[in-house]
Amino acid sequence: MNRQSLRPWRKGVARAARTMAELGLTHWSSGNVSARVGDKIVITPSGVPYARLQPRQIATLDLAGEAAAGASLPSSEWRLHVALYRAREDIACVVHTHSPAATAAACRGELIPVTHEAQIFLGERVPVSDSAPPGSWELAQAVSRSLGDGCVALIANHGAVTVGERMERALALAVLLEEAARTQQAVPGSCLKRGA
Ligand SMILES: [Zn+2]
Repeated sequence: MNRQSLRPWRKGVARAARTMAELGLTHWSSGNVSARVGDKIVITPSGVPYARLQPRQIATLDLAGEAAAGASLPSSEWRLHVALYRAREDIACVVHTHSPAATAAACRGELIPVTHEAQIFLGERVPVSDSAPPGSWELAQAVSRSLGDGCVALIANHGAVTVGERMERALALAVLLEEAARTQQAVPGSCLKRGA
């Protein structure tokens, strides 16, 4: 698959990154987004502000983690994306954010969706991975284990990850996760009403 044929997916990843910035899920160049196309991964580059990210700046990797020659440097968190695609043939998109409320929940080590809508989309409890150094295979494997067959996970002391067959789905889950974390922050634990 050549660089030209990946263009629609590079456009999709750039659009998703700009949407993340518009929605406040990320600031400047934090977090990262990718899509799998056959045996290739197109992923946001390292250190480029997302608000003005263009398709030609999107980096390309293969599933072994080898970057395409002459392309942009991939996000420093590329191992996380490679590990999730290797572990899950059913997913084609990965969204990783440092959105504030979800990251706060990841630091507390707990996110319990409270509203009915959040429970429908996120389940009864969002898994939290073990802590590991950013950008490491250790972190990638820890998140992969936490995610299991699910589509959302928090990364201890770091942020959040959502996955899906389609980018819109992974992005929507990132929005719902942040909203659920904000709701949890706003409702003191002693006031939570479960199963109402
Ligand atoms: Zn991160």
